Amino acid sequence: MQYERLSDFAGKGPYLLFDFPLYTKVKINTSAETTEDMEILDYNEDDIPNILHNIHFLENEDVRYLKTLVTQEKNFYYYCPFCKRELQIIHKGYELENELPESLLTTYSYMFSMSDEFEEYDEDAAKVSVKRFEEFIDQIFDENRVLQMNLECTSKDKHKFYVIFQLTDDNYLIKTGQYPSIRDFDNSLKEYRKVLKDKSVTNELTNAEILKTHNMGVGAFLYLRRIFEKLIFEQFELAKLENNIDEQAFNEAKTQDKVKILHEKGYVPTYLAEINPFIYAILSKGVHQLGEKECNLHYDTLREAILLILEEKVEMERKEKLKKVTKNELNKIHTRLSN
Ligand SMILES: [Zn+2]
Repeated sequence: MQYERLSDFAGKGPYLLFDFPLYTKVKINTSAETTEDMEILDYNEDDIPNILHNIHFLENEDVRYLKTLVTQEKNFYYYCPFCKRELQIIHKGYELENELPESLLTTYSYMFSMSDEFEEYDEDAAKVSVKRFEEFIDQIFDENRVLQMNLECTSKDKHKFYVIFQLTDDNYLIKTGQYPSIRDFDNSLKEYRKVLKDKSVTNELTNAEILKTHNMGVGAFLYLRRIFEKLIFEQFELAKLENNIDEQAFNEAKTQDKVKILHEKGYVPTYLAEINPFIYAILSKGVHQLGEKECNLHYDTLREAILLILEEKVEMERKEKLKKVTKNELNKIHTRLSN
C-alpha cells in the first residue's frame, strides 16, 4: 500500500503515529469535495415527480481525517514498547476553544438544470474550505506549524508516547519525530530471537527495518539479500556436515540453482523453494537497479517473505528433532516388546 495523502491512513492511525517512516511527505488536500443526492418534492397532475437535485460541498477527506485524528479521543489497541505487550493506548484529543463546524460547507440545489449560480457556490465552497482549514491549523499547530501529539498506555505505569508533525506551507504533513522510536515499536522479531541460533540474522533484520524507517530502501534490500544468502549458506554447511552434497557442483551453481539443489536434498523449506525463482532476483535488482522509492514500496512484502522462510526453517528443525526423538522411542519400545 502506498501512502500519499493523509486520508490513506484512515483506520490506520497507529501505523501513521508509530510505524510510518520519518520525514516522509503526506499531502493534505484542502479543496472541497462534492456528493450529490435528490429528493422528490411532489407530483404534478400527470403524476410526474418534481425532483430537487442537491450538490453538497464538503471539506476534503484529508482535512476531515486530520480533524478526527487530532481532536477526537481515541483508544488504539497497540503494542507498548515499555510494557512489551499489546494493550489500549489513549490519545485524549485536543480540546478546541470553538467547536468544529460540521464538514458540510454549502449545498447547491436545482430543479431542472444547473444555472450559472453553481459556479458561485463552487468558488465559495473552495474559499470557505481553505479558510476553515487555516483556522483549524491555527488552533492546533504552533506558530511554526508544528504539532506534538501526546499519548499514553493504559497500564498502571501510564507510559508516555509522543509524535511530532510539521505542516509545510504547501500543506504536506511530515512526521519529524517520535518517542519511543519506530524500532522500539517493531515487535515482529521477538519470536525469531528465541529460536534463531544465528543472532546476526535478527540483527540484520533489525538493521533493514531501521533503514526502511528512514526511507533508505536500497540499503534495507541489501540486508534482506544478505539474510537470504546466509540462510542458503547455513543449510549448505549442514548438508556438507552430513556428507549429503556435491560441494563443487554447489559452489559453481547460481544462487537460484543452489536453492534447487538444497531443496532436492531436503535442506530448505518448500516455501523457499517455491518463491526461489523470483525472490533473489527481486532483491538483487533492488540492490543494483531500483531506486529508493521502489525499494521502499516493495520492502514490506519481501520482509514478509523472509520471515515466512525463517518461520518454516524453525518449524522444519522442530520437526526433525521430534522425528529423531520419536524414532528413538519407537526403537526402545520395539526392543522391549521383542524380548
Ligand atoms: Zn505501557
